[in-house]
Amino acid sequence: MSAAGLDEAVQAPDDLFWQEHSERITEPDEELQRIVEAADLPALLAALAAATGDTSFLTPDLRPPLKPVDTVSHPHGGMSAEAQERGRAAALAGLRRLRDEGITRSRMLRHAETGTILEFLTNGHTEWDGMLRHELDLAPDKNGAPDWQFDDVAAGREFSALIVGSGVAGLAAAHRFRQAGVPFSIIESADRLGGTWQKNRYPGVRLDTPTFGYSYSFAQRSDWPHQFAQGAEIREYLETVAERSGIAELVEYGTRLLSADWDPETGLWTVLTRVRGGTEQRRTFNAVITATGQLDIPNIPDFPGRDSFGGVAMHSQDWDEAVDYRGKRVAVIGTGASAYQIVPAICADVESMVVFQRSAPWMLPAPSYHDSMTEVFSWLRRKVPHYAQWYRLWVTVLGIPGRFHTVRAEEAWNGAPLSVSARNQEVREELTRILGEQFSGHPELLKHAVPGYPPGAKRMLRDNGVWARALTSDHVAVETSPIREITPTGIVTEDGTRHEVDIIVYATGFRPSEYLEGIEIRGLDGVEIHDAWDGDARAYNGITVPGFPNFFMVYGPNVGGVVAGSLHFMLERASEYALKAIREVLARQVKALDVRPEAMERFVAWVDGENRQMAWGQPYVRTWYQNAKGRVSQIWPFTNVEYWEVTESINPADYDFLA
Ligand code: NAP
Repeated sequence: MSAAGLDEAVQAPDDLFWQEHSERITEPDEELQRIVEAADLPALLAALAAATGDTSFLTPDLRPPLKPVDTVSHPHGGMSAEAQERGRAAALAGLRRLRDEGITRSRMLRHAETGTILEFLTNGHTEWDGMLRHELDLAPDKNGAPDWQFDDVAAGREFSALIVGSGVAGLAAAHRFRQAGVPFSIIESADRLGGTWQKNRYPGVRLDTPTFGYSYSFAQRSDWPHQFAQGAEIREYLETVAERSGIAELVEYGTRLLSADWDPETGLWTVLTRVRGGTEQRRTFNAVITATGQLDIPNIPDFPGRDSFGGVAMHSQDWDEAVDYRGKRVAVIGTGASAYQIVPAICADVESMVVFQRSAPWMLPAPSYHDSMTEVFSWLRRKVPHYAQWYRLWVTVLGIPGRFHTVRAEEAWNGAPLSVSARNQEVREELTRILGEQFSGHPELLKHAVPGYPPGAKRMLRDNGVWARALTSDHVAVETSPIREITPTGIVTEDGTRHEVDIIVYATGFRPSEYLEGIEIRGLDGVEIHDAWDGDARAYNGITVPGFPNFFMVYGPNVGGVVAGSLHFMLERASEYALKAIREVLARQVKALDVRPEAMERFVAWVDGENRQMAWGQPYVRTWYQNAKGRVSQIWPFTNVEYWEVTESINPADYDFLA
């Protein structure tokens, strides 16, 4: 559609949390001045430009330079003090105008206006434009929702898809399929929707990336209570999304996918499911979309004697809320993201705790990790039209380059295995300095607290000091000798120490590279997908697999970002790509499409090449990002923009169409 056409198009907002009006501003100038002093200027200026319809004050000298983030983010994207001052004057004028003219809503932007505001927010990165429009509620060409309807393309054709899973990925897929009017069923093995956020209920569970970078483009909640949302808040969000989108009532709970078999004659998948209680059912679908998550199947190391333990043993994901840990002796095995949250949350209530550490985590400073959204943020989101959505977009902008520059390996760098580049070494030194402060007076603990691998090689945690405070408590010990065995009463380490405990918490992570574990998918010639993968799961764009027609993975191999970008964006785009593929099948009146092996090989080589340049791709690094073959099979090494590009359309040259 031409830019002019877009301006004329009347578009219903693609946002389940859309709010037409904000509250009126009535505060005097002094109060507005106070608000402006504490506001995030780029987000506020963008919101004011949209609400007033005046973009003239977004002059190039006010653009946030997007100073790269090493360890802590730079206020206002690194705007100079002088630019901030001028920005505040412009913001104050804008707020006064909203008040004096009684403006309480933003109209949809024109195409060119959107470009002007995006150019301001991104400091001229016009190549990010399309991706950001996907996230921008007010853009006339917000491009996530399907622009077609099943009945217009394939009226009368019998067609149905199966979506497997109702977590973050499954809900994204179901919402987009529903918008296009493509018939589908959605099954969920658990009793409730929400996937990982439904399962992980351990004490302290919360997001460890900023809340406003963790939501759907089509469900832009504005009143998040915390800067890093608590687990229950995300659960509630997902439930609300499912209700508002009409998906909640469609989910078949307690229904597990066992297998799917492709029949080339009929062009249908025969799917075998089991309902809790044992009933098995066979059904046929034209397409199967798996959204079964990555961090789902617990990794519980097979320590000798593991099953002999007489106390309570539980994996972080299977936390038993009935277990009373107060006054008990507790062992926590692991020091990853889950342990980081559990240990400080329960430490004050237990009699004693021992943390079994194989390798220490790198932690980025996040002073506001446990904080509520600020009072000023709350005012702005209530009184400035779409402020929260602009703030979300601003977080998205900052997340595009993210921290890639800190983890890219420098050729001929001689700091291995401790760092991969000069910048990476600087980050190492800064984080080590912070650890030195946190563990001052505890030299033995400090020695073990500094990781022996480069920052970013494993997933970095966010820290406001609670981890070190817990580990330096008198009743907490850190054990670094490897676990030799588990006995009926505790854990024995290689150095012969016996730790007598009442509760063992396995915060030992998951088996993410074993995609579709427990499900058999047989495609062309009856080949089972795990045999085709041979321990190295691969998919084109992380979505389609050669030999498996009309089969799509949402959150498949190599789509997880770790130092940049939004997971929701990746999952939405994978869903949208699957839908575009189905549209192609319908429009061509064929049974199915099957990705060509060479397209997948090209994609995998491209992704592998980039992953090898990263801290996590170094040969001496071992993380859950890699599979049994040593290939980095979890991580997307580019920005969200590249994923927007590769999922923008179906390239017919990449596919065989099966008549
Ligand atoms: P993880 O990061 O894989 O950490 C597992 C821990 O267990 C590591 O410290 C690991 O040591 C240790 N471990 C594993 N096997 C062991 C063994 N045989 N002996 C001794 N120690 C062993 O798992 P996680 O903490 O559950 O987190 C997984 C991912 O889930 C995160 O990276 C993150 O993506 C996600 N997550 C997100 C949030 C959030 O947003 N709030 C919270 C939790 C988890 P090594 O490091 O030496 O391997």
